[in-house]
Amino acid sequence: MTVGVAVHRVRSIPDRTFRRVVRAVDRGVEQVARNADRELDRDVEYDVVAGATAPRGTVVTNTRDAVYRSTANWLDATDRRDPDALHLMLVDAPLQQSIGYGGNRSHVKYDGPVSYANVGATERWDDAAVTDNMAVHEVLHGLVTPYDARPVIGRGCEHDLGAVIPAGDGRGAIVTPLATAYAETTVGGETQWPGSGCLGHFSQDVGYDPDWWGHTYALSPATLAATARYLGRI
Ligand SMILES: [Zn+2]
Repeated sequence: MTVGVAVHRVRSIPDRTFRRVVRAVDRGVEQVARNADRELDRDVEYDVVAGATAPRGTVVTNTRDAVYRSTANWLDATDRRDPDALHLMLVDAPLQQSIGYGGNRSHVKYDGPVSYANVGATERWDDAAVTDNMAVHEVLHGLVTPYDARPVIGRGCEHDLGAVIPAGDGRGAIVTPLATAYAETTVGGETQWPGSGCLGHFSQDVGYDPDWWGHTYALSPATLAATARYLGRI
């Protein structure tokens, strides 16, 4: 099997940012595929492509539903909806807090599902590492379900598959993609906009109140285990 992801963008996302995010998603999906290939009785490959740029006004960002719907409509209308790929749309809505830093509501193997990352917001209010992790985060949601998370961590919350790791200086904390925006859910904490999805306890916690937060695209062992379970049963 091949895990396919197409990363699209709206016009206002700069080339440099777009290329960087595509690279980050590529590294994220590579880790999932390599691990699944090792763990499963089947060959797992991956294919992350830089997709198309949506013309101005095509992608509507006033609600989460509008992002999914308008992106799906554009993909269908332009014959870009690869049913075997997950489509990640990078939107630029730095003031639209109601749609958050990103979203996902479906999974690969369901007619080319759409996820989005609000790159305009993460770039404005946080930094490149948060942007990259949120893009990977929303792709990961398409590669795992609560059903796969539960046997790994004892809970059905996908964010809990992420990890928060103590930094070497004993003061900071490093956050992996699925825990990004959820490691500390106060405004201006780990991220300027905290996530609004499920939250329980992370598979690793640092045990102190971090002075600073960093982000790594390296996936936690629980994320790798749960995504392999999902890919093993589809
Ligand atoms: Zn999430």
